[in-house]
Amino acid sequence: MTATLIDGRAAAERLRQRVAERTTELRDHGLIPGLAVVLVGDDPASRIYVGSKTRQAQEAGLRHFDHRLPATTTTAELLQLVQKLNADPDVHGILVQLPLPAAVDSATVLAAIDPAKDVDGFHALNAGRLALGEDATVPCTPLGCLILIREVLPDMRGKRALVIGRSNIVGKPMVQLLLQNDCTVTIAHSRTRDLPALCGEAEILVAAIGRPKAIAGDWIRQGAIVIDVGINRIDDGSGKPKVVGDVDFATAVTRAGAITPVPGGVGPMTIACLLLNTVNAAIRSRFGVAAEILKP
Ligand code: NAD
Repeated sequence: MTATLIDGRAAAERLRQRVAERTTELRDHGLIPGLAVVLVGDDPASRIYVGSKTRQAQEAGLRHFDHRLPATTTTAELLQLVQKLNADPDVHGILVQLPLPAAVDSATVLAAIDPAKDVDGFHALNAGRLALGEDATVPCTPLGCLILIREVLPDMRGKRALVIGRSNIVGKPMVQLLLQNDCTVTIAHSRTRDLPALCGEAEILVAAIGRPKAIAGDWIRQGAIVIDVGINRIDDGSGKPKVVGDVDFATAVTRAGAITPVPGGVGPMTIACLLLNTVNAAIRSRFGVAAEILKP
């Protein structure tokens, strides 16, 4: 048996299309969703991510405000910029690209972002609201994973789900989303015992570890839905780094019912969800939390 491939590029394109349509409607109300992107220093990977974010925001009809600052920027200077963006009515979403230089107090900077403009969903208020099942901005990557699971399993009630990885930006919010969708959720991490046995029970498996092929294909339950969040660059001897996930795809694809490839799975969904979160932040800012937001 070969698993169905869950096409993240196509799903992201559909979501961007919906975001663009809603943005056009909002423009008719004189509302242009605005995303401010703050990049500190010149980390090459961050530059590429930020470039994609601003390009896709523009293509979807959003306004974007780029703030590129030198690596020597201090915490105080960043806080000043965040306060300015918090107060700017044309800015509905603020994204501070991580990682920040080591000398900057990242936690203080992220906590200073107005939770209503926190389109990454990293603020404690949004994390708390998500845990309480209240209206919250959900971190983009787990939101993208949920959309991809729904592509192949619209009703996940009662399913046994396993989330591997407990980071605040992927693992923990993923657990909350699966719980909200009535899954029975287990969370595994670096200290978990007998991971193969847990994988063998999982009808939905989300791997967010950051280790190439950490999940062996023969651990996967027959017919499971496998969402591979990992982005790992390995040297396969070709002279060019190759990007692989956390799951050993070649074997997993023979056991899973559906699986995301890497690249082309979760990755493209993350930016599309950032655009979704920005449009929804703009809608809430104008029409209040009871407004009809664009559903993921
Ligand atoms: P992280 O380093 O913050 O967390 C990794 C988690 O994996 C930890 O909770 C740790 O306990 C767990 N872990 C480590 N080794 C393990 C093992 N052997 N068995 C079980 N659990 C183990 O990472 P993160 O920020 O959550 O990111 C995880 C991966 O997802 C990375 O590869 C990252 O590049 C990728 N990622 C992709 C996207 C995307 O857009 N596709 C977005 C964010 C992160």
